[in-house]
Amino acid sequence: MAVSSTPTRPETPAAPAARAPRRPRGEGQWALGHREPLNANERIKKDDDPLNVRARIENIYAHRGFASIDPQDLRGRFRWWGLYTQRKAGIDGGRTAVLEPHELEDEFFMLRVRVDGGQLNLAQLRVIADISREFARDTADITDRQNVQFHWIRVEDMPEIWRRLEAVGLQTTEACGDCPRIVLGSPVAGVAEAELLDPTPAIDEIVSRYVGDKQFSNLPRKFKTSISWLVDTPYEANDIAFLGVDHPEHGPGFDVWVGGGLSTNPMLAQRLGVWVPLGEVPDVWAGVVGIFRDYGYRRLRNRARLKFLVADWGVAKFREVLEKEYLGRTLLDGPAPELPSKPVDHIGVHRQRDGRNYVGAAPVVGRVSGAQLAELADAVEAHGSDRVRLTPYQKLLVLDVAPERTESLVTALRRIGLEARPSAWRRGTMACTGIEFCKLAIVETKARGEELVARLEERLRDFDADISIHLNGCPNACARTQVADIGLKGQLVVGPDGRQVEGFQVHLGGGLGMAHGQTAGFGRKLRGLKTTAEELPEYVERLARRYLAGRTEGE
Ligand code: SF4
Repeated sequence: MAVSSTPTRPETPAAPAARAPRRPRGEGQWALGHREPLNANERIKKDDDPLNVRARIENIYAHRGFASIDPQDLRGRFRWWGLYTQRKAGIDGGRTAVLEPHELEDEFFMLRVRVDGGQLNLAQLRVIADISREFARDTADITDRQNVQFHWIRVEDMPEIWRRLEAVGLQTTEACGDCPRIVLGSPVAGVAEAELLDPTPAIDEIVSRYVGDKQFSNLPRKFKTSISWLVDTPYEANDIAFLGVDHPEHGPGFDVWVGGGLSTNPMLAQRLGVWVPLGEVPDVWAGVVGIFRDYGYRRLRNRARLKFLVADWGVAKFREVLEKEYLGRTLLDGPAPELPSKPVDHIGVHRQRDGRNYVGAAPVVGRVSGAQLAELADAVEAHGSDRVRLTPYQKLLVLDVAPERTESLVTALRRIGLEARPSAWRRGTMACTGIEFCKLAIVETKARGEELVARLEERLRDFDADISIHLNGCPNACARTQVADIGLKGQLVVGPDGRQVEGFQVHLGGGLGMAHGQTAGFGRKLRGLKTTAEELPEYVERLARRYLAGRTEGE
Protein backbone atom coordinates (compact mmCIF):
# COMPACT_ATOMS: atom_id res chain seq x y z
CA MET A 1 0.00 0.00 0.00
CA ALA A 2 1.39 3.45 -0.94
CA VAL A 3 1.67 5.84 2.00
CA SER A 4 1.74 9.65 1.57
CA SER A 5 4.67 11.31 3.29
CA THR A 6 2.68 14.48 3.96
CA PRO A 7 0.07 14.15 6.64
CA THR A 8 -3.25 15.65 5.62
CA ARG A 9 -5.71 17.28 7.94
CA PRO A 10 -8.65 15.08 8.57
CA GLU A 11 -11.94 16.51 7.37
CA THR A 12 -13.93 14.68 9.95
CA PRO A 13 -13.20 14.17 13.59
CA ALA A 14 -10.54 11.53 14.05
CA ALA A 15 -11.75 8.04 14.71
CA PRO A 16 -10.18 6.26 17.64
CA ALA A 17 -6.75 4.95 16.59
CA ALA A 18 -7.03 1.48 15.10
CA ARG A 19 -5.18 -1.12 17.09
CA ALA A 20 -1.91 -2.23 15.46
CA PRO A 21 -2.32 -5.68 13.92
CA ARG A 22 -1.16 -8.33 16.33
CA ARG A 23 2.09 -10.00 15.41
CA PRO A 24 1.49 -13.64 14.69
CA ARG A 25 2.47 -15.66 17.69
CA GLY A 26 5.83 -17.29 17.20
CA GLU A 27 6.06 -21.06 17.14
CA GLY A 28 9.65 -20.86 18.35
CA GLN A 29 11.11 -21.23 14.87
CA TRP A 30 14.77 -20.25 15.01
CA ALA A 31 14.91 -19.36 11.32
CA LEU A 32 12.21 -16.74 11.90
CA GLY A 33 14.09 -15.16 14.76
CA HIS A 34 12.40 -16.84 17.69
CA ARG A 35 15.52 -17.74 19.62
CA GLU A 36 14.29 -17.15 23.14
CA PRO A 37 13.31 -20.40 24.85
CA LEU A 38 9.53 -20.61 25.04
CA ASN A 39 9.25 -23.47 27.50
CA ALA A 40 11.22 -25.30 30.15
CA ASN A 41 12.57 -27.95 27.78
CA GLU A 42 13.93 -25.32 25.44
CA ARG A 43 15.47 -23.49 28.39
CA ILE A 44 17.30 -26.61 29.56
CA LYS A 45 18.76 -27.16 26.10
CA LYS A 46 19.79 -23.54 25.75
CA ASP A 47 21.38 -23.29 29.20
CA ASP A 48 23.78 -26.13 28.52
CA ASP A 49 24.13 -28.49 25.58
CA PRO A 50 22.71 -31.78 26.84
CA LEU A 51 25.68 -33.70 25.47
CA ASN A 52 27.81 -31.98 28.12
CA VAL A 53 26.09 -33.92 30.87
CA ARG A 54 28.22 -36.99 30.14
CA ALA A 55 31.21 -35.37 31.80
CA ARG A 56 29.16 -34.54 34.90
CA ILE A 57 27.89 -38.11 35.11
CA GLU A 58 31.40 -39.50 34.92
CA ASN A 59 33.12 -36.93 37.11
CA ILE A 60 30.47 -36.08 39.68
CA TYR A 61 27.21 -38.03 39.76
CA ALA A 62 28.75 -41.50 39.44
CA HIS A 63 30.83 -40.75 42.54
CA ARG A 64 28.30 -38.88 44.65
CA GLY A 65 25.24 -40.93 43.75
CA PHE A 66 21.64 -40.32 42.69
CA ALA A 67 20.87 -37.63 45.29
CA SER A 68 23.59 -35.38 43.89
CA ILE A 69 22.05 -35.11 40.42
CA ASP A 70 20.81 -31.68 39.31
CA PRO A 71 17.08 -32.07 38.49
CA GLN A 72 17.53 -30.40 35.10
CA ASP A 73 20.17 -32.95 34.21
CA LEU A 74 18.18 -35.81 35.69
CA ARG A 75 14.90 -35.18 33.88
CA GLY A 76 16.28 -33.30 30.91
CA ARG A 77 19.82 -33.83 29.70
CA PHE A 78 20.36 -37.43 30.87
CA ARG A 79 18.14 -38.54 27.99
CA TRP A 80 20.78 -37.50 25.45
CA TRP A 81 22.87 -40.36 26.84
CA GLY A 82 20.04 -42.89 26.74
CA LEU A 83 19.10 -42.54 30.42
CA TYR A 84 15.57 -42.11 31.81
CA THR A 85 14.62 -42.55 35.43
CA GLN A 86 12.36 -45.56 35.69
CA ARG A 87 8.97 -45.67 37.37
CA LYS A 88 8.83 -46.45 41.05
CA ALA A 89 7.26 -49.85 41.63
CA GLY A 90 3.70 -50.00 42.94
CA ILE A 91 2.32 -46.72 41.58
CA ASP A 92 -0.89 -47.47 39.74
CA GLY A 93 -1.82 -45.95 36.40
CA GLY A 94 -4.51 -43.75 37.92
CA ARG A 95 -1.81 -41.71 39.63
CA THR A 96 0.42 -41.21 36.59
CA ALA A 97 -1.12 -37.89 35.64
CA VAL A 98 -1.45 -36.47 39.13
CA LEU A 99 1.95 -37.12 40.70
CA GLU A 100 4.98 -34.88 40.27
CA PRO A 101 7.87 -36.36 38.26
CA HIS A 102 10.01 -36.87 41.36
CA GLU A 103 7.18 -38.79 43.04
CA LEU A 104 6.93 -41.18 40.11
CA GLU A 105 10.57 -41.90 39.63
CA ASP A 106 12.90 -44.42 41.09
CA GLU A 107 16.62 -44.07 41.76
CA PHE A 108 17.27 -46.50 38.92
CA PHE A 109 17.43 -45.83 35.22
CA MET A 110 16.29 -47.27 32.00
CA LEU A 111 19.27 -47.26 29.63
CA ARG A 112 18.83 -47.44 25.88
CA VAL A 113 21.67 -48.70 23.71
CA ARG A 114 21.45 -47.70 20.08
CA VAL A 115 22.02 -50.49 17.59
CA ASP A 116 21.84 -48.53 14.35
CA GLY A 117 20.51 -50.68 11.53
CA GLY A 118 19.91 -53.38 14.15
CA GLN A 119 23.36 -54.82 13.43
CA LEU A 120 25.26 -56.64 16.17
CA ASN A 121 28.33 -58.83 16.07
CA LEU A 122 29.06 -61.56 18.62
CA ALA A 123 31.40 -59.43 20.72
CA GLN A 124 28.72 -56.77 21.00
CA LEU A 125 26.04 -59.30 21.85
CA ARG A 126 28.22 -60.72 24.62
CA VAL A 127 28.87 -57.30 26.09
CA ILE A 128 25.14 -56.57 26.13
CA ALA A 129 24.50 -59.91 27.83
CA ASP A 130 27.19 -59.22 30.44
CA ILE A 131 25.93 -55.70 31.19
CA SER A 132 22.43 -57.06 31.58
CA ARG A 133 23.52 -59.66 34.11
CA GLU A 134 25.96 -57.51 36.03
CA PHE A 135 24.22 -54.14 36.11
CA ALA A 136 20.61 -54.53 34.97
CA ARG A 137 19.17 -57.42 36.99
CA ASP A 138 19.16 -59.58 33.86
CA THR A 139 16.78 -57.29 31.93
CA ALA A 140 17.14 -56.57 28.21
CA ASP A 141 14.25 -55.67 25.95
CA ILE A 142 14.49 -55.55 22.17
CA THR A 143 12.53 -52.43 21.30
CA ASP A 144 10.52 -51.77 18.15
CA ARG A 145 13.22 -49.32 17.13
CA GLN A 146 15.98 -51.93 17.14
CA ASN A 147 17.43 -50.63 20.40
CA VAL A 148 18.31 -52.71 23.42
CA GLN A 149 16.82 -51.37 26.62
CA PHE A 150 18.11 -52.19 30.11
CA HIS A 151 16.40 -51.45 33.42
CA TRP A 152 17.61 -51.10 37.01
CA ILE A 153 20.76 -49.21 35.99
CA ARG A 154 22.52 -47.16 38.69
CA VAL A 155 24.27 -43.91 37.88
CA GLU A 156 27.33 -45.21 39.72
CA ASP A 157 27.78 -47.92 37.09
CA MET A 158 27.53 -45.71 34.02
CA PRO A 159 31.27 -45.06 33.49
CA GLU A 160 31.98 -48.79 33.46
CA ILE A 161 28.97 -49.52 31.24
CA TRP A 162 30.07 -46.90 28.70
CA ARG A 163 33.63 -48.24 28.82
CA ARG A 164 32.42 -51.73 27.97
CA LEU A 165 29.96 -50.67 25.29
CA GLU A 166 32.36 -48.34 23.57
CA ALA A 167 35.14 -50.93 23.59
CA VAL A 168 33.04 -52.95 21.13
CA GLY A 169 31.71 -50.02 19.10
CA LEU A 170 28.32 -49.57 20.77
CA GLN A 171 27.01 -46.32 22.21
CA THR A 172 24.13 -44.74 24.05
CA THR A 173 24.77 -41.29 22.57
CA GLU A 174 21.50 -39.59 21.63
CA ALA A 175 19.57 -42.81 22.16
CA CYS A 176 16.84 -40.54 23.61
CA GLY A 177 16.32 -36.77 23.74
CA ASP A 178 15.58 -34.03 21.18
CA CYS A 179 18.16 -35.24 18.69
CA PRO A 180 18.70 -37.81 15.92
CA ARG A 181 17.68 -41.13 17.41
CA ILE A 182 18.74 -44.58 16.25
CA VAL A 183 18.65 -45.11 12.48
CA LEU A 184 16.33 -47.98 11.60
CA GLY A 185 17.60 -50.32 8.93
CA SER A 186 16.63 -53.50 7.18
CA PRO A 187 17.60 -56.46 9.38
CA VAL A 188 18.74 -58.24 6.21
CA ALA A 189 20.76 -55.38 4.72
CA GLY A 190 23.70 -56.78 2.79
CA VAL A 191 22.41 -60.35 2.64
CA ALA A 192 18.88 -60.30 1.21
CA GLU A 193 18.40 -61.79 -2.23
CA ALA A 194 15.92 -59.06 -3.18
CA GLU A 195 18.13 -56.15 -2.14
CA LEU A 196 19.79 -54.28 -5.02
CA LEU A 197 21.72 -51.81 -2.89
CA ASP A 198 22.90 -52.16 0.71
CA PRO A 199 22.32 -48.82 2.50
CA THR A 200 24.56 -49.72 5.48
CA PRO A 201 27.38 -47.36 4.38
CA ALA A 202 24.93 -44.42 4.50
CA ILE A 203 23.73 -45.43 7.98
CA ASP A 204 27.31 -45.73 9.18
CA GLU A 205 28.26 -42.36 7.75
CA ILE A 206 25.27 -40.58 9.27
CA VAL A 207 26.04 -42.09 12.65
CA SER A 208 29.75 -41.33 12.55
CA ARG A 209 29.30 -37.81 11.17
CA TYR A 210 26.28 -36.56 13.07
CA VAL A 211 25.48 -38.56 16.20
CA GLY A 212 27.02 -36.60 19.08
CA ASP A 213 27.56 -33.58 16.81
CA LYS A 214 26.43 -30.42 18.54
CA GLN A 215 25.01 -28.91 15.37
CA PHE A 216 22.11 -31.36 15.76
CA SER A 217 21.98 -31.88 19.52
CA ASN A 218 19.27 -29.26 20.07
CA LEU A 219 16.35 -30.15 17.79
CA PRO A 220 12.76 -29.19 18.60
CA ARG A 221 12.08 -32.81 19.52
CA LYS A 222 13.17 -36.32 18.63
CA PHE A 223 14.06 -37.09 15.03
CA LYS A 224 13.49 -40.60 13.73
CA THR A 225 15.13 -42.10 10.66
CA SER A 226 14.72 -45.25 8.62
CA ILE A 227 17.01 -46.29 5.75
CA SER A 228 16.39 -49.58 3.99
CA TRP A 229 16.21 -51.06 0.55
CA LEU A 230 13.40 -53.43 1.47
CA VAL A 231 10.07 -52.47 2.94
CA ASP A 232 10.80 -54.16 6.24
CA THR A 233 10.81 -51.20 8.59
CA PRO A 234 7.81 -49.04 9.53
CA TYR A 235 9.18 -46.33 7.26
CA GLU A 236 6.00 -44.21 7.12
CA ALA A 237 6.17 -43.62 10.86
CA ASN A 238 9.53 -41.84 10.68
CA ASP A 239 10.51 -38.17 10.36
CA ILE A 240 12.61 -39.19 7.38
CA ALA A 241 12.76 -42.47 5.50
CA PHE A 242 14.85 -43.63 2.57
CA LEU A 243 13.37 -46.55 0.70
CA GLY A 244 15.07 -48.44 -2.11
CA VAL A 245 13.99 -47.72 -5.67
CA ASP A 246 15.46 -48.64 -9.04
CA HIS A 247 15.50 -45.55 -11.27
CA PRO A 248 15.05 -46.44 -14.95
CA GLU A 249 18.00 -44.21 -15.98
CA HIS A 250 20.13 -43.82 -12.90
CA GLY A 251 19.81 -47.25 -11.32
CA PRO A 252 19.38 -48.21 -7.67
CA GLY A 253 19.00 -45.35 -5.20
CA PHE A 254 16.55 -44.11 -2.62
CA ASP A 255 13.10 -42.56 -2.53
CA VAL A 256 12.71 -40.01 0.28
CA TRP A 257 9.73 -39.67 2.63
CA VAL A 258 9.30 -37.00 5.32
CA GLY A 259 6.98 -36.08 8.15
CA GLY A 260 5.80 -39.39 9.58
CA GLY A 261 5.09 -39.94 13.25
CA LEU A 262 2.46 -41.65 15.37
CA SER A 263 1.87 -40.70 19.00
CA THR A 264 -1.23 -38.61 19.71
CA ASN A 265 -1.50 -36.84 16.31
CA PRO A 266 -0.58 -39.62 13.93
CA MET A 267 0.56 -38.76 10.41
CA LEU A 268 2.13 -40.93 7.74
CA ALA A 269 5.29 -39.75 5.99
CA GLN A 270 4.90 -38.35 2.48
CA ARG A 271 7.07 -38.78 -0.60
CA LEU A 272 9.23 -35.86 -1.64
CA GLY A 273 9.31 -37.34 -5.13
CA VAL A 274 13.10 -37.34 -5.39
CA TRP A 275 15.69 -39.97 -6.21
CA VAL A 276 18.87 -39.90 -4.15
CA PRO A 277 21.95 -42.01 -4.86
CA LEU A 278 23.54 -43.85 -1.93
CA GLY A 279 26.47 -41.43 -1.62
CA GLU A 280 24.15 -38.44 -1.21
CA VAL A 281 21.91 -39.94 1.47
CA PRO A 282 23.89 -38.43 4.40
CA ASP A 283 23.78 -34.91 2.91
CA VAL A 284 20.06 -35.06 2.17
CA TRP A 285 19.47 -36.46 5.65
CA ALA A 286 21.49 -33.60 7.19
CA GLY A 287 19.54 -31.07 5.10
CA VAL A 288 16.23 -32.36 6.41
CA VAL A 289 17.50 -32.37 10.00
CA GLY A 290 18.68 -28.79 9.41
CA ILE A 291 15.20 -27.75 8.30
CA PHE A 292 13.76 -29.36 11.41
CA ARG A 293 16.28 -27.61 13.67
CA ASP A 294 15.75 -24.19 12.07
CA TYR A 295 12.07 -24.17 11.09
CA GLY A 296 10.65 -26.75 13.48
CA TYR A 297 8.07 -25.58 16.02
CA ARG A 298 9.47 -25.32 19.54
CA ARG A 299 6.79 -23.48 21.49
CA LEU A 300 4.54 -26.44 22.26
CA ARG A 301 6.04 -29.88 22.81
CA ASN A 302 3.02 -31.55 21.28
CA ARG A 303 3.52 -29.60 18.03
CA ALA A 304 7.28 -29.92 17.91
CA ARG A 305 7.65 -32.93 15.59
CA LEU A 306 8.62 -32.48 11.96
CA LYS A 307 5.26 -33.86 10.82
CA PHE A 308 3.49 -30.63 11.80
CA LEU A 309 5.84 -28.53 9.69
CA VAL A 310 5.45 -30.87 6.71
CA ALA A 311 1.68 -30.79 7.14
CA ASP A 312 1.68 -26.97 7.18
CA TRP A 313 4.16 -26.46 4.34
CA GLY A 314 3.24 -29.36 2.08
CA VAL A 315 5.93 -31.47 0.43
CA ALA A 316 6.45 -29.12 -2.56
CA LYS A 317 7.56 -26.25 -0.32
CA PHE A 318 9.54 -28.61 1.88
CA ARG A 319 11.47 -29.89 -1.12
CA GLU A 320 12.08 -26.35 -2.37
CA VAL A 321 13.50 -25.17 0.96
CA LEU A 322 15.64 -28.30 1.18
CA GLU A 323 17.07 -27.74 -2.28
CA LYS A 324 17.54 -23.97 -2.11
CA GLU A 325 18.56 -23.33 1.46
CA TYR A 326 20.23 -26.55 2.55
CA LEU A 327 21.64 -28.40 -0.45
CA GLY A 328 22.20 -25.56 -2.92
CA ARG A 329 21.08 -27.73 -5.82
CA THR A 330 18.01 -29.42 -7.18
CA LEU A 331 17.35 -33.07 -6.60
CA LEU A 332 16.44 -35.51 -9.34
CA ASP A 333 12.82 -36.49 -9.65
CA GLY A 334 12.34 -40.15 -8.88
CA PRO A 335 9.83 -42.94 -9.35
CA ALA A 336 7.77 -44.39 -6.52
CA PRO A 337 9.13 -47.63 -5.06
CA GLU A 338 7.30 -50.90 -5.41
CA LEU A 339 5.56 -51.75 -2.19
CA PRO A 340 4.79 -55.30 -1.11
CA SER A 341 1.33 -56.43 -0.17
CA LYS A 342 2.36 -56.88 3.46
CA PRO A 343 5.30 -55.89 5.64
CA VAL A 344 8.17 -58.36 5.83
CA ASP A 345 9.23 -59.53 9.28
CA HIS A 346 11.87 -62.17 8.29
CA ILE A 347 10.71 -64.76 10.80
CA GLY A 348 11.64 -68.33 9.86
CA VAL A 349 14.41 -69.70 7.66
CA HIS A 350 15.36 -67.76 4.52
CA ARG A 351 18.04 -68.02 1.88
CA GLN A 352 20.69 -65.29 1.68
CA ARG A 353 22.09 -64.23 -1.66
CA ASP A 354 25.38 -65.99 -0.88
CA GLY A 355 23.59 -69.35 -0.50
CA ARG A 356 23.70 -69.41 3.28
CA ASN A 357 20.58 -68.92 5.42
CA TYR A 358 19.33 -66.45 7.94
CA VAL A 359 16.99 -67.46 10.73
CA GLY A 360 14.45 -65.05 12.21
CA ALA A 361 13.22 -65.91 15.70
CA ALA A 362 10.67 -64.48 18.07
CA PRO A 363 11.01 -63.91 21.78
CA VAL A 364 7.67 -62.97 23.34
CA VAL A 365 6.91 -59.20 23.09
CA GLY A 366 10.62 -58.43 22.70
CA ARG A 367 11.51 -59.47 26.21
CA VAL A 368 14.79 -61.30 26.59
CA SER A 369 17.33 -61.56 29.40
CA GLY A 370 21.06 -61.28 29.68
CA ALA A 371 21.27 -65.01 30.36
CA GLN A 372 19.27 -65.73 27.23
CA LEU A 373 21.46 -63.42 25.13
CA ALA A 374 24.60 -65.09 26.44
CA GLU A 375 23.19 -68.48 25.42
CA LEU A 376 22.22 -67.01 22.08
CA ALA A 377 25.79 -65.84 21.54
CA ASP A 378 27.07 -69.35 22.27
CA ALA A 379 24.53 -70.92 19.89
CA VAL A 380 25.35 -68.41 17.15
CA GLU A 381 29.06 -69.08 17.49
CA ALA A 382 28.58 -72.85 17.61
CA HIS A 383 26.73 -72.60 14.30
CA GLY A 384 29.50 -70.71 12.58
CA SER A 385 27.97 -67.22 12.55
CA ASP A 386 29.19 -63.91 13.91
CA ARG A 387 26.19 -61.74 13.11
CA VAL A 388 22.84 -61.04 14.76
CA ARG A 389 20.28 -58.45 13.72
CA LEU A 390 17.46 -56.88 15.72
CA THR A 391 14.20 -56.06 13.95
CA PRO A 392 11.74 -53.17 14.39
CA TYR A 393 9.15 -55.79 15.31
CA GLN A 394 10.95 -56.81 18.53
CA LYS A 395 12.45 -59.92 16.95
CA LEU A 396 15.98 -61.05 16.10
CA LEU A 397 17.81 -62.73 13.25
CA VAL A 398 20.91 -64.89 13.03
CA LEU A 399 22.74 -64.44 9.74
CA ASP A 400 25.22 -66.55 7.76
CA VAL A 401 24.10 -70.04 8.74
CA ALA A 402 25.20 -72.92 6.53
CA PRO A 403 22.17 -74.78 5.15
CA GLU A 404 23.23 -78.03 6.82
CA ARG A 405 23.47 -76.34 10.25
CA THR A 406 20.20 -74.47 10.02
CA GLU A 407 17.83 -76.99 11.64
CA SER A 408 20.28 -77.49 14.46
CA LEU A 409 20.26 -73.73 15.07
CA VAL A 410 16.45 -73.60 14.99
CA THR A 411 16.42 -76.28 17.71
CA ALA A 412 19.07 -74.50 19.77
CA LEU A 413 17.14 -71.23 19.58
CA ARG A 414 13.95 -72.96 20.67
CA ARG A 415 15.75 -74.36 23.70
CA ILE A 416 16.59 -70.84 24.83
CA GLY A 417 13.12 -69.43 24.24
CA LEU A 418 13.54 -67.97 20.76
CA GLU A 419 11.11 -69.49 18.30
CA ALA A 420 11.83 -69.53 14.57
CA ARG A 421 8.43 -71.10 13.83
CA PRO A 422 6.21 -69.14 16.19
CA SER A 423 2.44 -69.08 16.34
CA ALA A 424 0.74 -66.19 14.57
CA TRP A 425 0.11 -64.71 18.03
CA ARG A 426 3.69 -64.72 19.16
CA ARG A 427 4.88 -63.52 15.79
CA GLY A 428 2.50 -60.61 15.56
CA THR A 429 2.34 -59.30 19.13
CA MET A 430 4.43 -56.35 20.31
CA ALA A 431 4.31 -54.41 23.57
CA CYS A 432 5.86 -51.17 24.75
CA THR A 433 7.58 -50.83 28.12
CA GLY A 434 4.38 -50.09 30.04
CA ILE A 435 3.76 -49.51 33.71
CA GLU A 436 6.48 -51.81 34.96
CA PHE A 437 9.13 -49.17 34.20
CA CYS A 438 7.64 -46.26 32.24
CA LYS A 439 6.66 -43.10 34.12
CA LEU A 440 4.05 -42.13 31.53
CA ALA A 441 2.26 -45.45 31.56
CA ILE A 442 -1.29 -46.05 32.61
CA VAL A 443 -1.36 -49.82 32.17
CA GLU A 444 0.83 -52.92 32.25
CA THR A 445 1.86 -54.13 28.79
CA LYS A 446 4.70 -56.66 28.67
CA ALA A 447 3.22 -59.13 31.14
CA ARG A 448 -0.24 -58.63 29.57
CA GLY A 449 1.25 -59.32 26.17
CA GLU A 450 2.94 -62.50 27.37
CA GLU A 451 -0.27 -63.69 28.96
CA LEU A 452 -2.24 -62.82 25.83
CA VAL A 453 0.08 -64.82 23.59
CA ALA A 454 -0.01 -67.82 25.93
CA ARG A 455 -3.81 -67.81 26.19
CA LEU A 456 -4.35 -67.44 22.45
CA GLU A 457 -1.82 -70.16 21.68
CA GLU A 458 -3.77 -72.40 24.00
CA ARG A 459 -7.18 -71.64 22.51
CA LEU A 460 -6.45 -70.82 18.88
CA ARG A 461 -3.22 -72.68 18.25
CA ASP A 462 -3.81 -73.11 14.52
CA PHE A 463 -4.89 -69.58 13.69
CA ASP A 464 -3.34 -69.26 10.24
CA ALA A 465 -3.64 -65.58 9.29
CA ASP A 466 -1.04 -62.84 9.71
CA ILE A 467 -2.13 -60.67 12.57
CA SER A 468 -0.51 -57.79 14.39
CA ILE A 469 -1.42 -56.85 17.95
CA HIS A 470 0.33 -53.85 19.48
CA LEU A 471 -0.06 -53.16 23.20
CA ASN A 472 0.65 -49.63 24.38
CA GLY A 473 0.63 -48.43 27.95
CA CYS A 474 -0.61 -44.90 27.15
CA PRO A 475 -1.59 -42.71 24.16
CA ASN A 476 2.06 -42.13 23.19
CA ALA A 477 1.93 -45.17 20.93
CA CYS A 478 5.56 -46.24 21.31
CA ALA A 479 4.51 -49.68 20.02
CA ARG A 480 2.61 -48.10 17.11
CA THR A 481 -1.00 -48.42 18.25
CA GLN A 482 -2.55 -46.99 15.11
CA VAL A 483 -0.97 -49.28 12.54
CA ALA A 484 -1.73 -52.73 13.92
CA ASP A 485 -4.56 -55.03 12.96
CA ILE A 486 -5.49 -54.76 16.62
CA GLY A 487 -3.97 -51.65 18.18
CA LEU A 488 -4.41 -51.31 21.92
CA LYS A 489 -4.07 -47.96 23.68
CA GLY A 490 -3.75 -48.24 27.44
CA GLN A 491 -6.21 -46.29 29.56
CA LEU A 492 -8.38 -46.69 32.59
CA VAL A 493 -11.81 -48.16 31.83
CA VAL A 494 -14.82 -48.96 33.91
CA GLY A 495 -14.67 -52.51 35.22
CA PRO A 496 -17.59 -54.89 35.85
CA ASP A 497 -18.09 -53.56 39.38
CA GLY A 498 -18.14 -49.93 38.24
CA ARG A 499 -14.65 -49.12 39.45
CA GLN A 500 -11.85 -47.91 37.18
CA VAL A 501 -9.44 -50.63 36.13
CA GLU A 502 -6.65 -51.05 33.59
CA GLY A 503 -7.88 -51.48 30.05
CA PHE A 504 -7.43 -50.57 26.43
CA GLN A 505 -9.13 -48.58 23.74
CA VAL A 506 -9.15 -50.62 20.54
CA HIS A 507 -8.04 -49.52 17.07
CA LEU A 508 -8.87 -52.00 14.34
CA GLY A 509 -7.40 -52.60 10.92
CA GLY A 510 -4.30 -50.38 10.64
CA GLY A 511 -1.18 -51.51 8.87
CA LEU A 512 2.07 -50.03 7.63
CA GLY A 513 4.15 -51.17 4.68
CA MET A 514 0.97 -51.23 2.58
CA ALA A 515 -0.21 -54.12 4.63
CA HIS A 516 -3.71 -53.82 3.33
CA GLY A 517 -3.62 -53.74 -0.42
CA GLN A 518 -2.00 -50.51 -1.48
CA THR A 519 -3.34 -48.28 1.21
CA ALA A 520 -1.28 -47.91 4.31
CA GLY A 521 -3.37 -46.28 6.94
CA PHE A 522 -4.44 -46.02 10.50
CA GLY A 523 -6.68 -48.37 12.33
CA ARG A 524 -10.16 -47.12 13.01
CA LYS A 525 -10.34 -45.92 16.54
CA LEU A 526 -13.56 -47.36 17.79
CA ARG A 527 -14.52 -44.91 20.47
CA GLY A 528 -17.01 -47.08 22.19
CA LEU A 529 -14.80 -50.12 21.91
CA LYS A 530 -12.83 -50.74 25.03
CA THR A 531 -11.82 -53.77 26.96
CA THR A 532 -10.53 -54.26 30.44
CA ALA A 533 -7.01 -55.67 30.53
CA GLU A 534 -8.39 -58.69 32.36
CA GLU A 535 -10.75 -59.51 29.52
CA LEU A 536 -8.27 -58.82 26.72
CA PRO A 537 -7.56 -62.49 25.80
CA GLU A 538 -11.29 -63.27 25.48
CA TYR A 539 -11.80 -60.07 23.55
CA VAL A 540 -9.09 -60.87 20.99
CA GLU A 541 -10.26 -64.48 20.77
CA ARG A 542 -13.79 -63.32 19.91
CA LEU A 543 -12.44 -60.96 17.23
CA ALA A 544 -10.28 -63.72 15.76
CA ARG A 545 -13.12 -66.24 15.67
CA ARG A 546 -15.40 -63.71 14.05
CA TYR A 547 -12.72 -62.98 11.46
CA LEU A 548 -12.21 -66.68 10.71
CA ALA A 549 -15.95 -67.22 10.33
CA GLY A 550 -16.41 -64.25 8.04
CA ARG A 551 -13.25 -64.12 5.93
CA THR A 552 -13.49 -64.46 2.20
CA GLU A 553 -11.48 -66.72 -0.10
CA GLY A 554 -7.83 -65.62 -0.17
CA GLU A 555 -8.19 -63.11 2.66
FE1 SF4 B 1 5.59 -45.52 28.05
FE2 SF4 B 1 3.34 -44.82 26.85
FE3 SF4 B 1 5.53 -45.21 25.39
FE4 SF4 B 1 4.34 -47.27 26.48
S1 SF4 B 1 3.46 -45.94 24.91
S2 SF4 B 1 6.54 -46.88 26.55
S3 SF4 B 1 3.59 -46.44 28.39
S4 SF4 B 1 5.24 -43.62 26.92
